[in-house]
Amino acid sequence: MRAGIITIGTELLLGDILNTNQKFLSSLLTSLGIEVYRHISVGDYEKPMKEAIKKCMDDCDIILLSGGLGPTEDDCTKEYLSEVIQRPLEKNEDEYKKMVELFQRKNYTLTKNNLKQIYTIKDSVILHNEWGTAPGEYVKYKNVHIFIFPGPPTELEPMAKKYLPSLIFDKTEIYEKSIQIMGLGESAVETRLRTLDLPKSLEINTFAHFGSVEIKIIGKSSSTNQVNIDVQRSIEIIKEEFASSIYSLEGNMMEEEIIKRCMEKNLKIAFAESVTGGLLVKRITSYPNASNILHASVVTYSNQSKEEILKVPRKDLETYGAVSEKVAMEMARGLYELGYCDIAISTTGEAGPIPSEKPIGTVYIGFYNGKKYRTKKLHLNGSRREIQKRIATVIFTELLKVELGGNNGN
Ligand code: AMP
Ligand code: MG
Repeated sequence: MRAGIITIGTELLLGDILNTNQKFLSSLLTSLGIEVYRHISVGDYEKPMKEAIKKCMDDCDIILLSGGLGPTEDDCTKEYLSEVIQRPLEKNEDEYKKMVELFQRKNYTLTKNNLKQIYTIKDSVILHNEWGTAPGEYVKYKNVHIFIFPGPPTELEPMAKKYLPSLIFDKTEIYEKSIQIMGLGESAVETRLRTLDLPKSLEINTFAHFGSVEIKIIGKSSSTNQVNIDVQRSIEIIKEEFASSIYSLEGNMMEEEIIKRCMEKNLKIAFAESVTGGLLVKRITSYPNASNILHASVVTYSNQSKEEILKVPRKDLETYGAVSEKVAMEMARGLYELGYCDIAISTTGEAGPIPSEKPIGTVYIGFYNGKKYRTKKLHLNGSRREIQKRIATVIFTELLKVELGGNNGN
């Protein structure tokens, strides 16, 4: 199935706001195995909007429209769509009642502009908006599924997630399974995936996340049993091919998997960050339950702080330099001895762009669990931010493979 996404709003064309609805709807459709064939962005004007709708009507099975449902005069998406498909707008009594109640409750005055929102396209399915006032709509016209969603992302995103799959796929059930891969790039995963003998009934695609690659398996069928068998078979084949590179079968990001495994093993981690400047702790604490596995972390950027907080011997800093294997090891040891963790992780390196002690991209990472030290030297390319992000990817991969290894998502 092919889809066209039409994002509406003059503010999008003026560059006032970033068109996040386009990106969001594209990834949602792709994750449902639907090909996104065309993106169109238009201002709140009749001619380009009607042209966009007609163009998509010619070669798409699904059309998503976002924006232009507000109470202001320029918001005319419903009006123009209703003219193109020749279905009139009608006063919707249910929506009218809801709006009156809402305005009474909030003590707002209902204006003529607000009432614009209670006119809906004849015979459309109303998509109730729990997150705002303007309802969305779904119309089936000449076998094309047409959706209208309000513009604010805080309304569009939950509404699209809630209504799109069930209305597009009708009674067909969708089975989705994600397999997360670490330590390999998307093209490598894709190339190997295409050599496998996987069931043809499924859509199997790769998606790159920062630091990991997701293989998404999607099965659509009204025969539950067959799809289940096919999905299970493909998981087994993929598991055999990618073996220890698989870290989750539950769709977890690396951070979530680290949290999950630390909780299962009752382990606490902590970071002593120099070159990453707090990125590691930020990434971990962006996910729920981080507090179960992390008490504290430190950013020791200067030699003085490495010495004072982590007790890195001054002799080592002078002899080997701050960017060295010895200092990475001493940082991890010093952090461990502060007593907040079972696994201490350190970073020290040159992220550039101004070269100093060592060549840009030279990084040492250290791991210490109270018994064993482990260090790794990295040579990374890219901008300062890219180097920092790559260090985080390597550390999370290493943690999942070694310190928290022995469990590839099963
Ligand atoms: P509208 O439904 O056109 O009145 O849109 C209401 C608000 O939603 C706008 O002021 C924008 O802030 C936001 N919005 C509309 N379209 C988009 C879009 N494509 N991406 C992100 N935000 C949007
Ligand atoms: Mg608008």
